[in-house]
Amino acid sequence: MHVRAIGCGLALLATTAAAQTTAVSGTRPARLIIRNATVVDGNGTPAKGPFDIVVQGGKIAQVIALDPVALGRGAGRRPRAEAGTAEIDATGKYVLPGLINAHAHLQDERAGVSQPIDYELKIWLACGITTIRDVGSDTRKALAWRDASAKGTLAAPRMFIYPQFGRPTNPDSARAHVRELKAMGADGIKLLGIDRDIMQVMEDEAHKNGLRVAHHVGVEETNAWDDIHFGTTSIEHWYGIPDAAIPDGVQSFPSYYNYNNETDRFRWAGHLWREADPARLSMVLDSMVARHVAWVPTFDIYEASRDLQRARTQPWFTDYLHPTLEEYFRPDPANHGSYFFGWTSTDETYWKENYRIWMNAVREFERKGGVVGAGDDAGFIYEMYGFGLLRELELHQEAGFNTIKVIEHATGNNARILGKETELGRVRQGFDADLIVVNGNPLENLKVLYPTGVDDIKDGKAVHTGGVEWTIKDGIPYHGPTLMREVKAMVAKARAERGQKADKASVPR
Ligand SMILES: [Zn+2]
Repeated sequence: MHVRAIGCGLALLATTAAAQTTAVSGTRPARLIIRNATVVDGNGTPAKGPFDIVVQGGKIAQVIALDPVALGRGAGRRPRAEAGTAEIDATGKYVLPGLINAHAHLQDERAGVSQPIDYELKIWLACGITTIRDVGSDTRKALAWRDASAKGTLAAPRMFIYPQFGRPTNPDSARAHVRELKAMGADGIKLLGIDRDIMQVMEDEAHKNGLRVAHHVGVEETNAWDDIHFGTTSIEHWYGIPDAAIPDGVQSFPSYYNYNNETDRFRWAGHLWREADPARLSMVLDSMVARHVAWVPTFDIYEASRDLQRARTQPWFTDYLHPTLEEYFRPDPANHGSYFFGWTSTDETYWKENYRIWMNAVREFERKGGVVGAGDDAGFIYEMYGFGLLRELELHQEAGFNTIKVIEHATGNNARILGKETELGRVRQGFDADLIVVNGNPLENLKVLYPTGVDDIKDGKAVHTGGVEWTIKDGIPYHGPTLMREVKAMVAKARAERGQKADKASVPR
């Protein structure tokens, strides 16, 4: 048991005035005090505390140290709870900046079948996500949801909308399209496959218009060298990085390979990292660092390729997998990412090796000074919203990062990728009041972040604990367990409407 300095704040709790009320989920109080919190900040530094954190006007107004040294100096005077002040007692809990999902898709349908947008938004909040970067969805709807979230009329994370660029056929139409997206109110642009001449002018126009660029490279004529030359903000996933380090310039595909056959595409992607020359790869990573190209690897979204059974039987499917998403996950050549026909132990073995090389490259990239972000790309390939990002954090740990750095990837680093590092991703005075209160120490066990919790032993007794208890976005507290009860009811209702049993364990066919 780790007692640390938490105890010293306990005696002081008695001094708080009687005016306090406990926080109400979904209602922004005039002032919110989070008491006695152990803090993990988003800047790669270790846990410290306890602190009282005062939130006012959507900002972090004060972060007050209560440790014995601060108190000894006469600092650490505790804020009083006046009328209208709500409180959250974080004694024994950890407070982090709200998590940022750098690779998300706003989805209110899958393959044309509707799915309430609240389903995704509520799971995100319950998983501690206070900001998402949307990299491709229905742009007009996404912009409306972004604005409603900013006004506080929609219970949702903050949103930054990066519409998919499409494939303009000539340089003039590419420039015009960038300006059109800017005029619509886009925050950035997502590229997914593009020819080099078009990429060059669109990036130039995007820079002139203050739009950041996220690039899912794909197997295309462009690769990471083009991102380095043209000034891409972040490379999504990983394609384009090993490709830039293949001595012959193209992977040794079998002659029957067809990129538009997704089974071919994902099977041979599992052979890609082994073809990257390590010395050339090192040069690619050095150049990405030098030109400030960040990397959002989305390890979680390929995990089914290395362990299909694990992906298909995730425990949260039982209560929380919406039937629309369940249907979409089933193998179907018409659904992107649902490619598991004849997936073999040989495929999984190649993919396991692929992950080892890939994870080492991401580690090397950060060691060289690169910015690694975290995103989940959920809504595809058996990844559920929210849970996918938490799994992503575990995979960053598996890649060899200290959990302190893992938290930084999903907070401070993601804020930097968004260009919001002076507003988001920190537990710091003056920053936006996006915070999470966690039951347990995520530096010891990232699994405590899952809303489904963890089993533990406390004082000799088996207990079920963990989860993000409160997600505070823009000063509005949301109670995680309440949100998940609402999600569970939403899923049960949708299943009943489709004639399924409400509590059926959802194992895709
Ligand atoms: Zn995506």
